[in-house]
Amino acid sequence: MEDYQLLIDLHKNANRQGPGGEEETKKALSLTKIDSTLPLKIADIGCGTGASTLTLARLLNAQITAVDFLQDFLEILQKKAKSMGLSDKITTIACSMDNLPFEDAEYDIIWSEGAVYNIGFEKGVRDWKRYLKVGGLLVVSEITWLTLSRPLELEKYWENEYPEIGIASSKINILENNGYSPIGYFVLPEHCWLDNYYKPMENRFKDFLNQNDNSEAAQAIVDAEIKEIKLYERYKTYYSYGVYIAKKIN
Ligand code: SAM
Repeated sequence: MEDYQLLIDLHKNANRQGPGGEEETKKALSLTKIDSTLPLKIADIGCGTGASTLTLARLLNAQITAVDFLQDFLEILQKKAKSMGLSDKITTIACSMDNLPFEDAEYDIIWSEGAVYNIGFEKGVRDWKRYLKVGGLLVVSEITWLTLSRPLELEKYWENEYPEIGIASSKINILENNGYSPIGYFVLPEHCWLDNYYKPMENRFKDFLNQNDNSEAAQAIVDAEIKEIKLYERYKTYYSYGVYIAKKIN
């Protein structure tokens, strides 16, 4: 994974690798109306260093399979789980989210925060459905337009970064067309981006550049992040992550 080494360096010591928050993970969980005493099987896909995995493990009587394609992130997750006494609830698997080694109908819940965009929302919800039991729940956060029209600069940026970005109704439509019944949706508030993700990252830029001898590649990563942060600060009323909760109906 040499190509990813710089991204690993920048993100591995963060609490989370994308926008989100512990309260928002709990909110999504409460919208599932799941009985937290039941023994559940959960897959957390694109878990990073485990922000959501650890919260779910703490709150639920669950066996959680935490999947990420970066082994470095999973090793940090394992260390955190150990120090929190949660190791026996969490198994990590290093693999790609488009080639999961799961059985059909294996899981009660598939959870994925800020990660499905790597294969695209539609492909993710369609391909992962087979791994859920009928009646099982999908909880997935996805970058979402909050308004029908947007400033051109913003539209161009995201159309280039992630052409599948869309309004919530289009995402809910995809869920409905793929055999899910949507049961909840909410928008991640600003603090999930700024306080939980961007500000801590900005505080790591200096050390990250120093550790990488101010290489061009490291500087390019920082520049791209700064561009993304500035865009968010300017246009945050137009987009966020939507959190979608849906039940597999057949
Ligand atoms: N869920 C975590 C969080 O909210 O902190 C991480 C979100 S981060 C934006 C996206 C994660 O997806 C990263 O940890 C990255 O390594 C992982 N990822 C990217 N492409 C992947 C793939 N094809 N298969 C599995 N994981 C992938």
